[in-house]
Amino acid sequence: MDYKQIIEEVYQEVQEENQRGKVADYIPELATVSPDQFGIALVDLKGNVYGVGDYQVPFSIQSISKVHTLTMVFNVFNNKLWSRVNVEPSGDPFNSIAQLEYEKGIPRNPFINAGALVITDALCSKFEKPIQQITEFINELAGETCVKINGDVKSSEFKHGERNTALAYFLKSYKNFNNNIDEVLEVYFSQCAIEMSCVDLAKSFSFLANDGFSIFAKQQIISESSARRINALMLTCGFYDEAGEFAYRVGLPGKSGVGGGVAAVMPHKFSIAVWSPELNDKGNSVKAIKALELLTDKLSFSLF
Ligand code: GLU
Repeated sequence: MDYKQIIEEVYQEVQEENQRGKVADYIPELATVSPDQFGIALVDLKGNVYGVGDYQVPFSIQSISKVHTLTMVFNVFNNKLWSRVNVEPSGDPFNSIAQLEYEKGIPRNPFINAGALVITDALCSKFEKPIQQITEFINELAGETCVKINGDVKSSEFKHGERNTALAYFLKSYKNFNNNIDEVLEVYFSQCAIEMSCVDLAKSFSFLANDGFSIFAKQQIISESSARRINALMLTCGFYDEAGEFAYRVGLPGKSGVGGGVAAVMPHKFSIAVWSPELNDKGNSVKAIKALELLTDKLSFSLF
């Protein structure tokens, strides 16, 4: 399979079509990025990297970090965790407060904000220095020191963090939050403010394409069955309110973030990260989704 040629064709076609969206501005610092950037990096299971466009430029991975933090607590909390968070698509906006109330403080899944806050709370119970350990974990997955937390993005999130703060208090009122709220929010905003390039992000997802074994960290990160379950969660819940559409158009497990990134995997073949900051009205990168759709069309395979 000539991945290099395929991603170059995809890149050209997406650029020619030039569909536009809108850069996220509810976290003001995110609106300062230049909107025309676009990069794709595909990493196969031998470690070969194929990149095109701005694939080496670091960007704000935002909610994509929720996959990394879920992985960090997955083994230890497996059964306990699933009494605190469900595994159903939400069908509501990612930061919905109403849903959390009528479902009595149990978030729909670990990728909406309420669910991710429960995961980060669990992580804070498990690790003594959670921010440092998240950073080290992702560096390990990527096989190099690549994670940087953007302080300006982090403080911008804190400053405009009313909804996430409200969600945390809500969870606490339902006794689904064990640690100090400010401390957990600090960790949550730090993980969202992580910057990485497409190539490093694709490497950090490689273990999910490889039955839980990372060729970059050279170790089994999670069991094969856990990797399968995280992939199932990404497929059903990884794209906000558009997970069904992504499964239909692309057919790969993945996770997007409001920084315009998408990381996805084709089990037993490759991991891929695509980034372009302009989003559609569901909060997914317009160009990244188009690129992944063209990619699976050209490859003539997806999960299905
Ligand atoms: N830091 C963002 C928030 O909590 C993450 C949003 C996202 O990428 O989904 O609102």
